[in-house]
Amino acid sequence: MKKIVIASNNVGKLNEIAAILAPLDIEIVAQSTLGVSEAAEPHCTFVENALAKARHASGHTKLPALADDSGICVDALNGAPGVYSARFAGESAGGGREQQDARNNKKLLELMARETNRKAHYYCVIVLVRRADDPQPIICEAEWHGEILQTPRGSGGFGYDPLFLLPQLKQTGAELKPAEKNRISHRAQALGMLAERLRAERRKERGERSKAR
Ligand code: IMP
Repeated sequence: MKKIVIASNNVGKLNEIAAILAPLDIEIVAQSTLGVSEAAEPHCTFVENALAKARHASGHTKLPALADDSGICVDALNGAPGVYSARFAGESAGGGREQQDARNNKKLLELMARETNRKAHYYCVIVLVRRADDPQPIICEAEWHGEILQTPRGSGGFGYDPLFLLPQLKQTGAELKPAEKNRISHRAQALGMLAERLRAERRKERGERSKAR
């Protein structure tokens, strides 16, 4: 696997994925540069949505494809917004991602106004398919636990980060330095697992080749 198409057009995610896969000497290409449109995410589980995005990108490009799906799950809201995190406050209100994030955070704060159980976690699943009909996709998932604050703090990150407190660090996701977030976040953990899995596959292939010689 020398080249992988990434089923995302989010520059932050692409950079993070590139950095983690760089030591494996894998070239990554954004799906938009190959003319692949965004896939629909109609499913009620993260893994199904990630698989749909990866299959869509691989089917169009005939390359191995990697997709992720993520969101925040709040205990007191029975796991909501979950897979609907990006569009929690509705999709049609217009504006860019920052406005959407602000609307989502406002809705979350309203729903949590009288709630004492503030526990929440980010979840991320990464799916890699070698081809669109790969029967054994590589699936790596991770959680990042924290609490929902009453008021936002910090200006970094994106999405729900200003409300997401990491109690041990006494900082929100939006107060962490980007490098620190990219080391410990749900996405970083899942990508780290993927890199480890790909390294193990490489070792296995090399072992099989040397046995065959
Ligand atoms: P997606 O995986 O790009 O579809 O992201 C889903 C949504 O989950 C984002 O739009 C954010 O609202 C939220 N989310 C996922 N990961 C993070 C994160 O690291 N920080 C803040 N919000 C996140």
